[in-house]
Amino acid sequence: MGRRKGGHYQKLRYLDGRQAQKWCRGPLHRGDNGKGEGGTWVDVGEFYLNGSGRLAGRLRSWCKACESYSALGRHARNVPSSLIAFAVEELVRRLGVNETSRRLFKSQQWLYQFRKGRIDTVRHDTAVDIVLLLSDVRARGEVRSRTSIRRGATMRGEEEKRPSGPRDFYRPYGDVDQEEMRTARRRRTTSG
Ligand SMILES: [Zn+2]
Repeated sequence: MGRRKGGHYQKLRYLDGRQAQKWCRGPLHRGDNGKGEGGTWVDVGEFYLNGSGRLAGRLRSWCKACESYSALGRHARNVPSSLIAFAVEELVRRLGVNETSRRLFKSQQWLYQFRKGRIDTVRHDTAVDIVLLLSDVRARGEVRSRTSIRRGATMRGEEEKRPSGPRDFYRPYGDVDQEEMRTARRRRTTSG
């Protein structure tokens, strides 16, 4: 797999003098122009930094999604959850628990357990589904406003509020924690 050449050449786009995007030629972004030269602009926040060596501190050549997609190939059956945890978090942040669970064909209970770190490995095809869904959702810039998600706007037949920035993204932890408190409270009241 993955022949990575020209390790220190970086094709970058700048915004206000800062690195904003980098050209990714990883497996999810490669595309195909017939010469193996495809690629896509990806936000620099989507890249890990090299940790050591000559290129320490520089952006790695493939984005996180492409790296994890490529890493999945090394795990035939079960994939360590740690490899795809970032993708699950981003999906939940963008889409909310309901929608993420619906699109991955996974129960909300499974998502909850996964995000609590209680699931060590996932099946290879599930891991691929997760990374591909994230790639798709990112490519379309799909994100729902957290207030709309909380209100269940679509279910109520209301029009969804358009998020104007990351602050409007759905924040998962607050809800998870609240849900846990609710469950604990329920347990106390039913057992007491
Ligand atoms: Zn990529």
